[in-house]
Amino acid sequence: MAFSNIPGNERVKKILQAFIEKERLPHALIFAGPEGSGKKLMALGLAKALNCEKSKIEPCNECSQCNSIDNENHPDVIIISPEGQFIKIDQMRFLIQTAYLKPMVGYYRVYIIDQAEKLNEEASNAILKILEEPPSFTIIILITNNPSFLLPTIRSRCQIIPFSSIKREEIESILRENGYDEEKARLISLLAEGNLEKALSFDWEVVFEKKQKAFEIFKNLIKKENIFQTYKRLERESYSSGFKEEFRDFLELMISFCRDIILLKEGGDTRYLLNPNFLLEFKEIERFVDQNEIQKYMEEIENLIYSFEKNVKIRMLMDYLFSIFAFREEGRDA
Ligand SMILES: [Zn+2]
Repeated sequence: MAFSNIPGNERVKKILQAFIEKERLPHALIFAGPEGSGKKLMALGLAKALNCEKSKIEPCNECSQCNSIDNENHPDVIIISPEGQFIKIDQMRFLIQTAYLKPMVGYYRVYIIDQAEKLNEEASNAILKILEEPPSFTIIILITNNPSFLLPTIRSRCQIIPFSSIKREEIESILRENGYDEEKARLISLLAEGNLEKALSFDWEVVFEKKQKAFEIFKNLIKKENIFQTYKRLERESYSSGFKEEFRDFLELMISFCRDIILLKEGGDTRYLLNPNFLLEFKEIERFVDQNEIQKYMEEIENLIYSFEKNVKIRMLMDYLFSIFAFREEGRDA
């Protein structure tokens, strides 16, 4: 993939291209950022830019160097992943032994250490020296979701390049380019949490069912109907494994419903609805809430999603969700 085809992280691309252009690329790099933010694609893109026969800044994707990097069989571009639970010392010994040999067919040897947080201490210590003084033709890229899990001695020897999640709109447009229709692309991008790999692996039937279910719950909450039954139903499901992830998806979907209702209330263009297939239903339930209320719901649900990061018990999150709507009702009756 050429840099221009790698999704998201425009800033990272510019930094890397500027490094190459000025011939100041650090030889030890850490690509750090959330899962599915395209770190490995970017590392492969960089390996291609360094070895491409036609262009240094934007790999051509046509020459034999680019092709074999794409096929992951380039002898100078080596991807190292954990064997079992850890990246082991033997894997790092291989790196050290080969890193000093001149590239076989390309211009640079590039080592991409995937899930570098799984380097055990012995393996980490083994590469300190080479990270400090790598040969001029060797680039080592450590990829990690959790740079804090790397030894400080590793971090201090590398240039850290931070990645961010891919924007929802970017994921939507990549899915569209991959042949997804508008509804699918939009809905999946909402649930992907900025993770392109996750987006591409979603099963549409499952997603569609989830959306219908989330809308049923949302409708009940907005209309204050069947609240108790809805709660009981979710409570039963809360014992199943994977419920937490599912509940998070519900919340993401609910936010998208709130957004759509706000758009309708503001008289916005219905082409911008995140859930266009619910247009009629939105019009039906819109009258149960005023603008401030729906805005408030959305903010509260966003806060709730934020608490997911903090390991709060799922039942507490559920109780909170229902209380958001119940308290509002009391407020209105008063
Ligand atoms: Zn090329």
